[in-house]
Amino acid sequence: MSACETRSICPYCGVGCGLIIQSEGAQITGVRGDPDHPANFGRLCTKGSTLHLTAAAHVQQQVRALTALRRAARGQPLQPVDWDVALDEVADRFAAIVKQHGPDAVGLYLSGQLLTEDYYVFNKLAKGLLGTNNVDTNSRLCMSSAVAGYKQSLGADAPPVCYDDLDLARTVFITGSNMAWAHPVLFRRLEDARAANPAQKWIVVDPRRTETAAQADLHLQLQPGTDVVLHHALLHLMLWEGLTDAAYVAAHTTGFEALRDRVREFTPAHAAKVCGLKTDDIVQAARWFAGLDQGETRLPTLSLWCQGLNQSSSGTDKNSTLINLHLATGQIGKPGAGPLSLTGQPNAMGGREVGGLANQLSAHRDLANPAHRAEVAALWGVADVPEQPGKSAVQMFQAAADGQIKALWIVCTNPAQSLPDQGMVRRALQRCEFVVLQEAYANTATAAYADLLLPASSWGEKEGTVTNSERRISRVRAAVPAPGVARDDWAIGVAVARRLEARLPQRAAMTMFPYTTAEQVWNEHRESTRGCDLDITGLSYTALEAPQQWPRASGASTSTARLYADGRFPTPDSRARFVAPTWRSVAEPRDARFPIALTTGRQRDQWHGMSRTGTLGRLFAHGGEPAVEMHPQELHRRRLQAGDLVRIRSRRGTLVLPAMPSEALMPAQAFVAMHWGSEFVGGDGVNAITSPATCPQSMQPELKHVAVRVEAAGLPWRIAAAAWLPAARAQAVREWLRALFDRFGYASCVLFGREPDARLGLRFSAALAAPADDALLREVEAALGLVDIPVLRYADVHSGQCRVLALQPDGALQAFMLAGDTAADNWVWPLLHQGQPAAAFGRAFLTASRQPPQPVEPASRQVCACHDVSEARIVTALDGLGGNADERLRALQVRLRCGTECGSCLPALKTLVQQHHPVEQAA
Ligand code: SF4
Repeated sequence: MSACETRSICPYCGVGCGLIIQSEGAQITGVRGDPDHPANFGRLCTKGSTLHLTAAAHVQQQVRALTALRRAARGQPLQPVDWDVALDEVADRFAAIVKQHGPDAVGLYLSGQLLTEDYYVFNKLAKGLLGTNNVDTNSRLCMSSAVAGYKQSLGADAPPVCYDDLDLARTVFITGSNMAWAHPVLFRRLEDARAANPAQKWIVVDPRRTETAAQADLHLQLQPGTDVVLHHALLHLMLWEGLTDAAYVAAHTTGFEALRDRVREFTPAHAAKVCGLKTDDIVQAARWFAGLDQGETRLPTLSLWCQGLNQSSSGTDKNSTLINLHLATGQIGKPGAGPLSLTGQPNAMGGREVGGLANQLSAHRDLANPAHRAEVAALWGVADVPEQPGKSAVQMFQAAADGQIKALWIVCTNPAQSLPDQGMVRRALQRCEFVVLQEAYANTATAAYADLLLPASSWGEKEGTVTNSERRISRVRAAVPAPGVARDDWAIGVAVARRLEARLPQRAAMTMFPYTTAEQVWNEHRESTRGCDLDITGLSYTALEAPQQWPRASGASTSTARLYADGRFPTPDSRARFVAPTWRSVAEPRDARFPIALTTGRQRDQWHGMSRTGTLGRLFAHGGEPAVEMHPQELHRRRLQAGDLVRIRSRRGTLVLPAMPSEALMPAQAFVAMHWGSEFVGGDGVNAITSPATCPQSMQPELKHVAVRVEAAGLPWRIAAAAWLPAARAQAVREWLRALFDRFGYASCVLFGREPDARLGLRFSAALAAPADDALLREVEAALGLVDIPVLRYADVHSGQCRVLALQPDGALQAFMLAGDTAADNWVWPLLHQGQPAAAFGRAFLTASRQPPQPVEPASRQVCACHDVSEARIVTALDGLGGNADERLRALQVRLRCGTECGSCLPALKTLVQQHHPVEQAA
């Protein structure tokens, strides 16, 4: 079988890295960075570089949706159904509901991971054919505050800078972004830029001391929700010290007087108090941002931000007040200067381009503008497109929970994991008369609520385009056919749309969906942009062989790398607009009942709801098991220890997790990774507690802050278990254990191991207020393969103690379960995980001794995923290394190879090098 190479794009974050997929026949066998792609020049992070492992046949067979599935009745299992039957049913049910209740009784909920062509078809299907603007996307949870901020301040949803500006900036203002983890390849580029230009300054604004913040020249560790105060204070100081660009303000902007009045009260001293910062740090940040600290020539400042600004009930204000700083100092439209929102998802930008939000129309047209609506209606061949904005993400599910929306079509996303206020979301999915889930993965939390599951193709299997954070459009290509009978998302949309045309003839004046290829869809999208700010009529599908930025209007010979260089903006008077909001705190401030500010964020090696990354053991090694991070003082004050189970309670729900000390947070704060849904942890996941409060302009929910209280969970009886299993069975066993979660007060199950090994590990933890019954224990044992094989076993039903252990022929541990007293887990788990000889430990295991009879190398956090290097090994190696920090880092890389492949661990390595000096240097 001959090997093939196919150029495509990473399906994870908005950096949009190009990659080359290696395949043999129908099997993806490898992946490497595309050296010619201008987003990454060959680099990939831990997630991108392991994509091929997620496409392994045994993984696909266990987790993919391979056939259409239908549920005969709620409570019944999904059963295979013929594609045509499934498509007819979608069309029948949607048409019937539209006829009976009107078009706004249905909703489509899409994803920033769809390709632009998918998005275009579903947007046209909803707004053109069904006649509802109830089409929204999980990008609402991600970028809509940036969209609203750009439009409000600059007149169009267009990030004005390009990635080259990272190299050219003198000051980089990173706010609300742990870029080192969330956009690693761009962070590598920033590291290179500072290495080449040591004068480049990094200001990082973040309530947590993340790995990004740890590398900053100035970390502003502000209180959550106080960003607008900080932005206003920076401008106050710039005005006070004469650091603004009066000529630019006069020539290219409006509204400055009102803003100047607004920021008058926001002195640095006042802001320091509100934000919890030092006045001097605010002053320093203002001077660096303005870029005049080295004389008359203004040095360029680039700002980079992500969910820390966007996922807020004042997200649009945060965006616009940051853009104010660029406008006030003329730091826009010049090399190295300007605001750049880092897109969370791979194609949130493409979705915005085709109007894939409830309040937008194709090609950035304005839904409120009658002329724009008429243009789109003419393009699509329909009488009109509806005038009223549709329901945004949270509103859509609230409307379903209230019975107004009766059918939901969910495409390529997992709202039962990712939307806030899961109690409401799950009520919505239960109450909805008809839930269609179009998905590549059959085991997401949302799948449990689907009446119909339509199998979709995924990365490596589909064709189309995506647009990254710098407005660069790239081709996505199929390397292999989709598994089973899965189809491309746009093609499923077209198949249903054609059926709906026959059932809703009053809406469809002609055949609206004639496409047979993604290219045909893209051509129609291209034509829709003619004359708009994102005009791409100068491009062709073939021209996208080389990724191109928009805009590129017909007749233009090059794409536009940097917008607004001439100081003209796409507003009626061609001027940018200063915005002068009052400061509003978070929607739910801390109070006596809920005294902790909890925030959410990413892990380095996981992606969103983990449908794909959660299939690999190696991607769990860095982040480990679910936990809530809190400052050690906060834990101490509450008489809590590391590993104690705590109940986190918000106004909406509860979540039980082990506590983990972290000095990255301030006291009275907590952090839970956004990835932990009910697929991996008991209950409704992290979003059981998050708030549905939204920004009134962007409708983006405040996923970054919720007031909670934290108390001991009162679940003293615990299980700690782990097992090595055949990789071909491990995902299925994880599903088996997941089905038991509801029978415990706390439960979690994660993978470990190192693909492409033939075995994969499962780590299962659970707890109850009283001992589990014997049947439940036997089921856990059975899932872990601890029955029908020789085991060491101790059980005392009266005291609720049970310990079971199995050895491999070579004397290493195969599997174990400690139930009741789990004190021995601290040494049994490393024994199994590291494959250390265990035959001599059996007696200590059976007596649940806290101390092992012989020394066991303790478990240590993995730092380097590519070469599987733990923190313990790094610290040991550093003890013997001399020289300055750069020399010690290089020596470490030579000795252990850590940080020499994808580079995602470099920030952590630099921090460890700083923290661990050799004895002679410390002395
Ligand atoms: Fe993918 Fe990583 Fe590149 Fe993001 S930075 S596109 S996750 S390889």
